[in-house]
Amino acid sequence: MSANLLEIDGLSVSYGKVHAVREVSMRVPVGKIVTVIGPNGAGKTTLLMAIMGLLPGKGEIVFDGHACHRAEPQRRVEMGMGLVTEKRDLFGSMSVEDNLVLGSFRNRREGKAARLRELERVYGLFPRLKERRSQLAQTLSGGERQMLALGRALMAKPRLLLLDEPSLGLAPRIVREVLHAVAQLRDAGISVLLIEQNARAALQTADEGYVLELGEVVLRGPTSQLLHDPMVESTYMGMLKE
Ligand code: ATP
Repeated sequence: MSANLLEIDGLSVSYGKVHAVREVSMRVPVGKIVTVIGPNGAGKTTLLMAIMGLLPGKGEIVFDGHACHRAEPQRRVEMGMGLVTEKRDLFGSMSVEDNLVLGSFRNRREGKAARLRELERVYGLFPRLKERRSQLAQTLSGGERQMLALGRALMAKPRLLLLDEPSLGLAPRIVREVLHAVAQLRDAGISVLLIEQNARAALQTADEGYVLELGEVVLRGPTSQLLHDPMVESTYMGMLKE
């Protein structure tokens, strides 16, 4: 098996004349968190959508050694990719547990016992969800909703989670809690591609980082380096000191 779960080479995505992602090459090693930071409109969401097959792009996407740039999104889910969007896409009038069970559709043939095992694993990672298993999703706090969205994605047993701004709209303390949960996913053997505008928190959580500007990778490296890079500090971390 390759040391990289995801390898992207020369990926470009356009909306008509708008070149949102330009010749991006990127690696997500097995069992690591890789973050992509960058300003509004840099192309971060577009990049995730193309990796998941929800937008057409040019270039190579290799997942677990298999070329998948022509695969349908459903096939990519079957291969082990999972996406959590900014909107979190929960069913508000359903309970926490029912939302989680809906996430296990990929393994529906494995039966009830397997689903219960998966549920217990998710509750083990997020005890707060277990406490609130009967509560309606719409009554959860912002941080709890984000954890539910992560938990639901985990029910499909992904090997790679693509996370679009999990900290969006959350207070700093809750951001830390959610990103701590993301770090636990890595400890559970799941690789993560983490899109974030909150550069400091993302770089403190991830192992490797990429800086995307106007659709292009302008900087990449271990997060220990990026955290002390003068350009990153002045452009992305000036206002977010905590
Ligand atoms: P944000 O952090 O604000 O979500 P982003 O880095 O995720 O930004 P994208 O949403 O990927 O950026 O957008 C990249 C570029 O593509 C922007 O210039 C945006 O205006 C443009 N764009 C995004 N979606 C569309 C679309 N459906 N049609 C045309 N242009 C689009």
